[in-house]
Amino acid sequence: MSSATGLASLLELQEHDGTLDRLQHRRDTLPERDALARGEATARTLAVRMRALSEERAGLAREEQRLGDEAGSLRARAADVEAKMYSGSVSSPRELQAMQADVDQLRRHEQSLEGHELELMEALEPVERALAELDAQRVQLAAELNAVRSALERAEAGIDDEMSAEQKARDAIAGEIDPSLVAEYERRRARTQGVGVARLVGNTCQGCHLTIPSTEVERIRRAPEGSLAFCDNCGCILVP
Ligand SMILES: [Zn+2]
Repeated sequence: MSSATGLASLLELQEHDGTLDRLQHRRDTLPERDALARGEATARTLAVRMRALSEERAGLAREEQRLGDEAGSLRARAADVEAKMYSGSVSSPRELQAMQADVDQLRRHEQSLEGHELELMEALEPVERALAELDAQRVQLAAELNAVRSALERAEAGIDDEMSAEQKARDAIAGEIDPSLVAEYERRRARTQGVGVARLVGNTCQGCHLTIPSTEVERIRRAPEGSLAFCDNCGCILVP
């Protein structure tokens, strides 16, 4: 293959590589990917809030249980004292009076604990409600995330198909070009914004769209067949 056809093929290669770059960029910046990241962030925030509320609920429930247990034991003690009072084993009126005072005291204490228990149950209600609301949000969000994940996978698969066809066409052309020329092109393409070769149209490099001095353009156009010219601005191989 002559150098001129080599350069023409190189331009074709560049076109395929440019398309591949654009497809890769489109794949990286799919709106579904953004939507998924945002949804996952919301899900994490939701999980944190639910964990905090669950802990609050557990704390209130523990306290309620503790009060309930204590009230129960006070009730049992009062019942014990009463049983003894009515058993007939105690006959001293003063002792009976003292026992009655004990029972009254135990009952008052029990009632105050039960009042507190009721307050706790009331405090639990809004926590339970908030948790139920957040859980409904969590379920809905999970369904939305699943849909976004599927949409992302479909979009990725579509681009992957395009990319593999493009890659095949690109590799077929690359296989026909002198490997050292391809290597030169790859090196330059890696250094620039993905442009390794471009046409020189008039005084303008089509890679960077900057003007090249006329004397330099003259020199490039007169250069013998097979010699390579490069753009001083972007560094790509120039095809006169
Ligand atoms: Zn250039």
